[in-house]
Formats: sequence, structure tokens, C-alpha cells
Amino acid sequence: MTTAPPTAAARALESLDGLSIGDAFGERFFGRVEAVLPRIARREVPQTEWPYTDDTEMALSIVRVLLDHQCIEQDTLARLFAERMDSSRGYGPGAFGILSAIARGGDWRMLSHSCFGGNGSFGNGAAMRVAPLGAYFADRPLEDIVRQARQSAEITHAHPEGIAGAVAVAVAAALASQARGSSAPLGRAFVEAVRDATPPGDTRDGISECLALGPDATPVQAARILGNGAGVTAPDTVPFCLWVCSRFSHDFVESMWNTVTALGDRDTTCAIVGGIVACQTGRAAIPEEWFELREAVDP
Ligand SMILES: [Mg+2]
Repeated sequence: MTTAPPTAAARALESLDGLSIGDAFGERFFGRVEAVLPRIARREVPQTEWPYTDDTEMALSIVRVLLDHQCIEQDTLARLFAERMDSSRGYGPGAFGILSAIARGGDWRMLSHSCFGGNGSFGNGAAMRVAPLGAYFADRPLEDIVRQARQSAEITHAHPEGIAGAVAVAVAAALASQARGSSAPLGRAFVEAVRDATPPGDTRDGISECLALGPDATPVQAARILGNGAGVTAPDTVPFCLWVCSRFSHDFVESMWNTVTALGDRDTTCAIVGGIVACQTGRAAIPEEWFELREAVDP
């Protein structure tokens, strides 16, 4: 018996599971470094509940818009981002300000461009929520994926680097979806393809730097060169996530431990990696216990 390939909606929901489990998993490892690192070294799965954070909350709105409209309808997405925002979920001050103003009737086009001194945000927030979009459009031409990712980003991240981060992650998720079921990591060709689809700038340059890392590099060594998201910018976050995916896209559990061990913005790095890797591995690669620990998600 052959199994039909998953639909666009099913792919997006599977990526959302990877993203939300990554987000909630990574968030459990904040705290004093002396306490956190031994827990990671022992691979101690946190046994308290795993609430999700802003990464998942925003991804839920993207998935809702895709399920309802089959494309990014920007005004609808802006409204959903604002309506759904729960300020206890760890939003950055930039996103909080924009979404609060949208909720009061503000125009996202003006708000997104005027923040950060008129430059727009180059934070990692557009990248952290976009993997399900790449999964959804995985069977479409590359330019469609890039355009939809850009549109999803612009609502809160008008800066070219904020947009580049989203484009890179969406393309990465699409490539992982195309490799669904493969037991091999995506490797260098994946990094090169994502780099080539990413607009020029610091994020793209950082992705190029992944290629200079040797096969024996550890996540901590990679993060020292690529960043670990501690600066919460797209260039400081996305290249490291793609490096992890290039090595561990065939193994969801390994991808999570290798991401979190670099610390940094660990809910977001794990959300990005989880959202991409789940596209290749499928849900079956995620431990059942992790689903049970994660707060339920409902797009
Ligand atoms: Mg977060």
C-alpha cells in the first residue's frame, strides 16, 4: 500500500508541531548557566509543563491565515497577530509596541516601517514563526515561497535583514519538506540553496559562513562564529539554526539537543530548527512524551 504525500495543510501543521515543541523545549533551558548546562549534558528532558512562547503564538496566526486563505493575506495576518497577542508569552518590546498599536487601530504598514528609528526591525521574530509557511508552499516555485515569506515578515519586520531571516527559514523548511522521509542530513547543498535564495546582506553572509565550518565543529564552536541568537537579530540567529539543520535534519531529538546546547535565544533557535526538521522527519520522530508535555496548540 502506498501512502499519499501530505497535503499543504498537513505539512504546515506538522511543521507547526516541530516549531511549537522546539519553542517550548528551548524555553525550559533558561536559567543559571551552571544549572542549565549539566541538565543539557545529561539530556534531562524537563518534566514540568512546557508552555509555548511568542514564537508559537505568532506561527499559529500564520497557519490560520494559510488554512483560511491559501496565501498570506497581510491585513488579516496583522489583525490576527494583534488579536492573539498575549503579552505574557515573551514578546520583544518592538513587536509588543507594533502589535499593541495595530490592536488600537493603527496601520501595520506605517508602524512596521517607522519602528527602530525608521529602519524597521531586523530582529529574529519574522524567522521564528515562518517554517510552517515554507512547508505549506513546499511544492510551489521558489519565487512563490520567497514572496509569501516576505509578506509574512513585513507586518512586523520591515528591515531587509528581518525579511531575509524569514525568507531563509521558509526556503529551508520547503527544502526539508522535499526531503521528507530521507534518513540523511540535508548537508552543504541545503545551506548553499538557502543562501542562494536569501537576499544579500548580513544574514546571507552568515549562512555562507556555515560552509566554512569543518565536519567536526561542535554546536558551541559553530555558535561562536555564527551567533546563537543572543542578540535576537536575524543575522545572529538564522545561520546557526541552518547549520544545525544541515547536520541533524534527519533526527528531531538530536537537532533539539544540539541547538539548545549553544544557549542564546534558545526558545527561538529551537523553534526555528524544530519547524524545519519536522518537515523532513515527520511527527513520528518526535517523542510522544514531548507532545504530552507541550501545551496544546490550536491554530
Ligand atoms: Mg519566544
